[in-house]
Amino acid sequence: MFATTPVQTIRFAEQAIFVKRDDLLHPDFSGNKARKFQYFLEQDFPLVKKLVGYGSAQANSLHSLAALTKMRGWQLDYYVDHIAGYLKQNPQGNYKAALDNGANIIEKPAGIELNLETYVQQDIQAPYESNKQLVVKSTVFVPEGGRCEYAQLGLDQLGREIIEWLKQNNMKKLELFLPSGTGTTALYLQRFFVEFSKTASSSDLSLPSVTVLTCSCVGGDEYLTKQFYQLTDNTDYHPRIISNGKKYHFGKLNRQCYDMWQHVNKQGIEFELLYDPVGFIMLEHYLNTANLSGDDLNKGAAVPVMYLHQGGLLGNPSMLARYKRKYQQQG
Ligand SMILES: *Cc1c(COP(=O)(O)O)cnc(C)c1O
Repeated sequence: MFATTPVQTIRFAEQAIFVKRDDLLHPDFSGNKARKFQYFLEQDFPLVKKLVGYGSAQANSLHSLAALTKMRGWQLDYYVDHIAGYLKQNPQGNYKAALDNGANIIEKPAGIELNLETYVQQDIQAPYESNKQLVVKSTVFVPEGGRCEYAQLGLDQLGREIIEWLKQNNMKKLELFLPSGTGTTALYLQRFFVEFSKTASSSDLSLPSVTVLTCSCVGGDEYLTKQFYQLTDNTDYHPRIISNGKKYHFGKLNRQCYDMWQHVNKQGIEFELLYDPVGFIMLEHYLNTANLSGDDLNKGAAVPVMYLHQGGLLGNPSMLARYKRKYQQQG
């Protein structure tokens, strides 16, 4: 079990924002992915010797799964569509950390038409049921980005930490903001808080309530809504999606994102360069519009906001190098 992560305060959009420092959860097993994979760290798996995952060669998941399997003494087979030539030549970031932790990174052979997930299922000869953890004999199979039920265990613990913090600070209400990829983290947190408020209301009306706000960083708002439905039909558990109407392409360099990242970093906390810039752009939009419209006045202005720092800093140096090459000359 992880120790409770600290909460700090920054100034943003002319108000105080609490930052939950989940990036400090564990040096090798950090943030979002560690919460989602916590189940695999704690659960007994007497027969398991190997974990199979897949995704991008630069993904935070890759590093976290490599750290996890090393801690457990398991083999990691991690499938990727492709490893860029420069990355093979100059291993860095999540890819390098995973190699250092002994990960076996497998490229899908050229000329295979199947998508990566289907290819992996075929290669390990296991049926696959969406969103369910899959243990076949000595192998655990983990869907991309940890998008499945077992993620709830670690995210419930995160939810309890936030409730405890609210109690300690005599706070009754909170809006928790976090940027989404698959939406798994945001949805399971929302589910935790909805269920918490049900159990709480019967016994103690003074217990805090938390609403989860998120934004899409991959594939747009419709894609994110679809992801929510894949996880559950219960729309009470679907977090509210905040958008300024613009779409930011995941991993693509964008001046506004770079500027926002530099702006929030001035508060003394290093944020991550793929999800957090979009997160803060949407949060700023939300805070500004909420403060303007009378309808939302109570929500945006009166309810304290916490931003969840989900880690992922290992990918920053290579993203930053790309940004510097692109924008430094132009100032
Ligand atoms: C994976 C990741 C996310 C997205 O999490 P989802 O549960 O897929 O929405 C956000 N931020 C960071 C730093 C991540 O590593």
